[in-house]
Amino acid sequence: MTTDWQALRIEGIYRQPHEGFAMQRIKLPAGLLSAEQAHGVAAIAGEFARSELHLTTRGSIEFHWVSTENLGKVKSRLAALGLTSRGACGGAVRGVTCAGRGGVGFPLMETVARRLQQQFTGNPRFERLPKKFKIGIFTQECDRSHLIQDVGLVAKPGDQGSSNYDVWIGGGLGREPQAGFLLEERVTQGRLIPLIEAVLQVYGAHAAAGKRLKHVVRELGEERLRELIMAEPSATEELSPPAGLPDSFLPGDPAPALEAPLFAGELSADTLARLAEFSRIHGGGWMVVTPDQNITFRIPGDVEAASQELLRLGFGGMEKEEQVSFRICPGSHECRMGLTPTRDVARQVIAAMGTVAGALRWAISGCLNSCAQPQLADQGIAVSGLVKGDDGSRSPRFDLYRLPSEGLGLPAARNLTLEELLAQVRELG
Ligand code: SF4
Repeated sequence: MTTDWQALRIEGIYRQPHEGFAMQRIKLPAGLLSAEQAHGVAAIAGEFARSELHLTTRGSIEFHWVSTENLGKVKSRLAALGLTSRGACGGAVRGVTCAGRGGVGFPLMETVARRLQQQFTGNPRFERLPKKFKIGIFTQECDRSHLIQDVGLVAKPGDQGSSNYDVWIGGGLGREPQAGFLLEERVTQGRLIPLIEAVLQVYGAHAAAGKRLKHVVRELGEERLRELIMAEPSATEELSPPAGLPDSFLPGDPAPALEAPLFAGELSADTLARLAEFSRIHGGGWMVVTPDQNITFRIPGDVEAASQELLRLGFGGMEKEEQVSFRICPGSHECRMGLTPTRDVARQVIAAMGTVAGALRWAISGCLNSCAQPQLADQGIAVSGLVKGDDGSRSPRFDLYRLPSEGLGLPAARNLTLEELLAQVRELG
């Protein structure tokens, strides 16, 4: 039986470059995973995904190497854990990403992320969008991640522990990077869902198939788009605050955070199971997959004992690879679009780094789709193409991005060979 890969996208499934195998992405609100869910995810990886897992640059988890005949079983097992992959790929509202790594202000963002995911996941109104639609929530503007979302929410602390949000829209990377613009300042929490519904309504009505919101911004202009959105009936609607118990489950402020750093977001099922046990004993039963492809824990109890345990698990005297902040997409290791094995190149780049370069934030994407967000790193690398040599072999060319004082990273050099790229890295010292 042939596989309808296009139809499977809405289930968070992409075809791998290896015949008969698929990538299955899970949608975690704000990257949150309970200890029980992490144990279950580790078991699924052990049974169906060669005991390997990949943490994404939006704080989600991917299984690679899932045989197409096992996709239904994986879906059923995820559902039994209370997890979903619905809308993790395709023309849908993707997993809501959240900065903050479980730090101060995270409980409020966790609450908002859960509500947004509940509202927009599995809802037929938001599943036939022209292309993907990304929402992110951030505590501050300085890391600039809000600029690359279709809707980026920047929390502004308000009275009595509440927050308002600056709402940025129309950002995105890919082959035509574009920074989002500020739609409205200090939007109350009760207006977020109706306002995002209004943005989605206008997006669905005005974008051509396959185009993101940033293209509508280019075609209509910021002011016209703002007028259209604010003319939607839901744009000014305010929902009453939900009654009941809080939706945030991560141990709250001021519990300190500990991090388990992982090279390229790669970990084995066994490692995840051990980290799940760590979170059950030391982390209040929860963990956070961060957009930096690491796992953090809030520690409500004895931090020293927790640190020692994390060291014992091998997350301490780290190798240089894990010490460098380096976002890395799967590249040609597992992605059909990938033009080079990104992890291998990243290892060579790290080996070429001196102390100064090692203190910077790095990212590498295996093609110009820019999934590792090279335009947000101090030094970002994207593979721009393959060049055929005299012997018929193809070698990659790299664009190098550097972060200016504001906005997105810009190309500092284009079409570098690997040797030229490594020479630039060495020059940084
Ligand atoms: S940047 Fe390209 S190679 Fe990397 S995950 Fe995205 S599509 Fe695949």
